[in-house]
Amino acid sequence: MVPVFQFANERVVVVGLGKSGLSAAAALKSGGAKVAVWDDNPTARKAATAAGYELLTDPDKLDGVRALIWSPGIPHTLPKPHPMAVLARAANIPLVCDVDLLLGAQTDAAVIAITGTNGKSTTTALTAHLLAHAGRKVDVGGNLGYPALELEPLGLNGTYVLELSSYQLELVPHLAAETAVLLNITPDHLDRHGDMAGYAAVKRRIFDNQRGSRTAVIGIDDPMCAKIAVELKQGGRNRVVPISVHQPVPGGVYVDRSLLIDATDTRPSKIIDLRELPRLPGLHNWQNAAAATAAVRAHGLTGIEIAQGLRSFAGLAHRQELVATVDGVSFINDSKATNADATEKALSCYQNIYWIAGGRQKEGGIASLKPYFRRIRHAFLIGEAADDFADTLEGEVPFALYEDLEAAVEEAGEMALKEKLPGATVLLSPACASFDMFKNFEERGEAFRAEVLDLWPAQNGSAA
Ligand code: ADP
Repeated sequence: MVPVFQFANERVVVVGLGKSGLSAAAALKSGGAKVAVWDDNPTARKAATAAGYELLTDPDKLDGVRALIWSPGIPHTLPKPHPMAVLARAANIPLVCDVDLLLGAQTDAAVIAITGTNGKSTTTALTAHLLAHAGRKVDVGGNLGYPALELEPLGLNGTYVLELSSYQLELVPHLAAETAVLLNITPDHLDRHGDMAGYAAVKRRIFDNQRGSRTAVIGIDDPMCAKIAVELKQGGRNRVVPISVHQPVPGGVYVDRSLLIDATDTRPSKIIDLRELPRLPGLHNWQNAAAATAAVRAHGLTGIEIAQGLRSFAGLAHRQELVATVDGVSFINDSKATNADATEKALSCYQNIYWIAGGRQKEGGIASLKPYFRRIRHAFLIGEAADDFADTLEGEVPFALYEDLEAAVEEAGEMALKEKLPGATVLLSPACASFDMFKNFEERGEAFRAEVLDLWPAQNGSAA
């Protein structure tokens, strides 16, 4: 845990008592702050009092409070601000999140901050892996994995690699990352940010306090980010490193066919052929690899160190994760794909796909996936969305409906193993939320993995 001394002997209120709220309360308490806690949910309040925290007696009164430590999940502006946020703003009490406390407490450590609509977790994990593989002192967290204040105190020569959601970016006034990465911007969370302009404005805050030699890594393959890159360059306040998977970019990191090229030095040099990396399939993952490369180059890693680290990256669970290869059939767990956009990425990577899809449907269904239907050999549909998905697939892709995930996995695997088509892939990429059948996407992915390994144990093939 990182103790927070910033508010010693002062009164602070932690609002939102999830994992990160509770760890913030602990870190503040150990740094001598007078901590009160609040959550609108009475069960969470009870658990916090049982754990020894003082409850805020009256959430309508914030007299003498120096700061609210705000859980990023609670709306404080749009669509409707929480009343405590309104009260705090009127009284000039700052709202910050746990990541801001970490930044204030660990000023000697370097920070690589990473945001974007998609690919944050993969890029964050990959960046941390590259640094660790090169022998650097590093810890990784934020929106990914451990809450910020549960990380190790790293001090001088340490580097925090932090995934930051747009919600967190609104609550980190201390952020002045040595390296800040903005991967991409596509429509998301517009309820909280108003419109695309509002969403983009929050995302670009990741660069706001950067000055001088601090590095801004930015994907220029979507129009919003491309525009931000131009503006940053014109602003001239930080060092801008563009990345692209579509075109060579002078001074940046880019993909030329399948070669990852580093042009941040004077002469462009090849880092690796990305086709060598089965754990990072698809152009989207190549964007993540380019961004991570640009970030760690800014922290002094060599091309050779980066290539070695890329080769040994194990990938993240539930994101096109190779669970097993059995008699030439790959079993891929992409349970994190909870909407059609994410599933599109996976479908674009394989041929002869035995596609397991369905769950709780998101707006728009799977009509947008039509261009990829010819890659799908057979669809195995589950959950609430099964009937709707069947309607879309009718006449284009053979399909059948299944009671549960296990039955779908069994049928899909058996069919793939029987047909023995080149590159056959059993792919769980549901294009749906999991909540109709599972607690979360992780539980769904674990169930897939367990079933695959149960039906086709490692001795029958090679578990990946
Ligand atoms: P995030 O943390 O931003 O949700 P993840 O790394 O967890 O991103 O990836 C989630 C899903 O987003 C992946 O399964 C993939 O479908 C898609 N994805 C990953 N990287 C990118 C990218 N660079 N661009 C677009 N989509 C991506």
